[in-house]
Amino acid sequence: MAYQVLARKWRPQTFAEMVGQEHLARTLKNAIRQNRIGHAYLFVGSRGIGKTTTARIFAKALNCRHNQDGEPCCQCDNCLEIAQGNSMDVIEIDGASHNKVEDIRDIRDGVQYTPVKGKYKIYIIDEVHMLTTAAWNALLKTLEEPPEHVKFLFATTEPHKVLPTIVSRCQRFDLRRIPVPLIVQRLRQICDGEHIAVEDAALTAIARAADGGMRDAQSILDQMIAFCGGADGSVAVSEQDVVNVFGLASGQELSETAAALFANDLDRAFAVIQVLADGGRDLERFFDDLVGFMRNLMLAATCRDASRYLEVSETEMADLLAIGKAVPPRQIQQALQLLLAQEWSFRTALNKRLYLEVVLSRVTTELHSVQLDDIMTHLNVLGGFLPPQELPAPNHTVNLPPSTRIDRPTPMAKPVVPPAAAPAPAVAQKPQPLAPEPRPQPEPAPMPAPVPPMPAVAPQAAPKPAPMPAEPVAMPEFQPIPEYASDEQPEYSEQNIPSSVLMSDSNPADLYQRLLNELGYAREQKLLDMIGHGFQPISFENNLLTLGYSFNDVDADDVRQLLDARNNVVLQMVFRKVWPNGKILLCRITEDGLEETVHKGQRHATEDERKEIAERPAIHQLRQALNLEVIDARIKE
Ligand SMILES: [Zn+2]
Repeated sequence: MAYQVLARKWRPQTFAEMVGQEHLARTLKNAIRQNRIGHAYLFVGSRGIGKTTTARIFAKALNCRHNQDGEPCCQCDNCLEIAQGNSMDVIEIDGASHNKVEDIRDIRDGVQYTPVKGKYKIYIIDEVHMLTTAAWNALLKTLEEPPEHVKFLFATTEPHKVLPTIVSRCQRFDLRRIPVPLIVQRLRQICDGEHIAVEDAALTAIARAADGGMRDAQSILDQMIAFCGGADGSVAVSEQDVVNVFGLASGQELSETAAALFANDLDRAFAVIQVLADGGRDLERFFDDLVGFMRNLMLAATCRDASRYLEVSETEMADLLAIGKAVPPRQIQQALQLLLAQEWSFRTALNKRLYLEVVLSRVTTELHSVQLDDIMTHLNVLGGFLPPQELPAPNHTVNLPPSTRIDRPTPMAKPVVPPAAAPAPAVAQKPQPLAPEPRPQPEPAPMPAPVPPMPAVAPQAAPKPAPMPAEPVAMPEFQPIPEYASDEQPEYSEQNIPSSVLMSDSNPADLYQRLLNELGYAREQKLLDMIGHGFQPISFENNLLTLGYSFNDVDADDVRQLLDARNNVVLQMVFRKVWPNGKILLCRITEDGLEETVHKGQRHATEDERKEIAERPAIHQLRQALNLEVIDARIKE
């Protein structure tokens, strides 16, 4: 006997054998049992989920001689003939190719004749949305009042293309997408019946690829058996085979990617993408699957009995629960939201791989930055609007947003120590390990030479409107000090800060120059350009270096950028390399004198005031919870 594809061989023959369409089977069986049979039925659903199969079973049930409670017996001659497709009373028409008026006229003429053997003459018209309007009009009258012995069974994938007047004359049934576990179950049944060895994970992958369609799933299974070389059970079909052939991502790759995002480990995520891209897998499909995985993860993490909603195998469920337990649900929701927000852009992106990498980096960055919600919750708790138990567990997700340029953790962590201790020891200790090195080279040290140190602008003199000679502004492009520019230690780190820097006095012009040098070491060229042009040191008091500028000399946009949170943090951090605990204040020089750019009517807290503020209970609690330091505070004047 010729080979019959699995989908045909294993086509369900009774309502009981149909998978995932219980609602429909029950209604149709009841209709037959109670003899309340309509004259036209419309079966709606995507391809391969059993519309035609349903119609055939229903036709059998209608004409069966030994109908058992609405089910066809599959034994009588009518059942057998219908199953083999040679019953005179069941006429199957393909609407796609028989969509003309003439074709319908044949039907219209045919309904006059009574059935040959069965009780009913049944017309099954597939792809009924393809019929032309003229064809429908020809059928309309017949459809409205067909002879007693005629039943119409229509099937369509696109019900919206069927004329409303037609739909209203039919009983409409929507077939459901078949859930993955049911498809897997059915495939397993088939494999057992055919004695084919297939991994469970492979069946799950097949079911996922089939996207709810049983026929697709069975076709894929057929193809996989052929691919793996034998239906004799000698070679098992593995998940990897399915993944390779259909360009899918395996469940493990999905969970690995998700875990990488939550662990803030882009390296891992990129490794997965590399594998996918190398294997020529469909990245768009991967993105969809990743979104699906996150959704499953969210349900697994938040629902008491997630298995009710999830179409996953047991191993996948275990994966989901493992990640779901380790990650706060809100973070999962956030990841899902972020991915969904990128969906459209991703579809239209030309370079999928690049875009995918960008998306994943963005998601990771967002997931691991301080959340406004967290801050609001803290403030609400502090204000007594929320009970303390609402506080998120400290530091579980919270990190400072990573700076793109300064990626070493030290600069942010360091200031935790000094504030309490007097600045003096910090200064004193630093030079010791380094002292021997830089000292012996006195030559390069007087590096400020090219730039005439700001002619010791007396702090008080500065406010005068005129003091911005164009010349000093023409700060030459910063040249790194030779000893650091040269060979071995190009990297900027605490280790190679010259001790002279740490030891030196507190002349504002000097500090300013050293700040410029430090910006050069730190490769903060943009900040260096901005702060190096048009700014001048005004004063240095209470660890606060005031830099003045006038809009005559600088670009307002530059100032705005310098005050931007990230740039400002970098600037302050770099300055603290020059002067531990030091801070920079940018002031505009106006005709009336110095004017602070931001926070008018407020002044910077002095160091002592800042410490006092940082220790206030509310602030202290907030600091601890978010792992933040107070580096600036303002006080009303
Ligand atoms: Zn029968």
